[in-house]
Amino acid sequence: MDIITRLKKAILGMARWFFPYTCILCSEVTKREIDLCLECEKSLPWLGHVCIHCTAPLCFESNAVCGTCLKKPFPFSKTCILFSYTEPIRKLITGIKFQRRLLYANILGNLLAEKLTLLYQNENLPEILIPVPLYKKRLHQRGFNQAMELARPIRKRLNIPIDYKSCQRIHNTAAQTTLPANQRSTNVKNAFAVLEQKNVRNKHIAILDDVMTTGHTLIEFSRPLYDAGVKKIDVWCCARTYLGSF
Ligand SMILES: [Zn+2]
Ligand SMILES: [Zn+2]
Repeated sequence: MDIITRLKKAILGMARWFFPYTCILCSEVTKREIDLCLECEKSLPWLGHVCIHCTAPLCFESNAVCGTCLKKPFPFSKTCILFSYTEPIRKLITGIKFQRRLLYANILGNLLAEKLTLLYQNENLPEILIPVPLYKKRLHQRGFNQAMELARPIRKRLNIPIDYKSCQRIHNTAAQTTLPANQRSTNVKNAFAVLEQKNVRNKHIAILDDVMTTGHTLIEFSRPLYDAGVKKIDVWCCARTYLGSF
């Protein structure tokens, strides 16, 4: 370790002594290297047994396929979602989007990375990670893409490159959570385009979003990717809504 790295570590260590990791939910010192204490982490609305393709709740075991996916396969080989979109997850995700609490994205991204490490321990990880793009104007207004912020800790911990240039959202769409179920599919129709097909052709990719509602956004995003010759798509999300949860 060179002298600069040692110095940096020493300064960071000293700063942590004055400003220890503090839980974003209960404000207690966490005594670990993340701003979320173990008790609060355990009490989050973790998803229980769910279908491996669409994450519909199952009453028996995980890693099984639900009846709907058996009849009509979901277009993703694996879907990993951590939480039900209820409190305090809803508060954290809206905090990222509307109050620029990027620390929350870092914490949720790290929790997702932990889960993914377990989920893929016996199989190949996707080769590229693509955060679902925001429409240019919305990206400009917000100043960041929340999916990209969730992707950063995953890139670091799983060592997967992020591709944020090959795909674009070409239509501005209303937030899916604000629409009745019957309008969500048309709202996102043809919303995405792949600009650099060669970057994704024959690749196993993961697409990442903050919240999955009905799945229409992700399905619509998968269309131009499959058209461009993508081999396989996995979906990673922080939370999903279920009937009655929003
Ligand atoms: Zn706490
Ligand atoms: Zn299913």
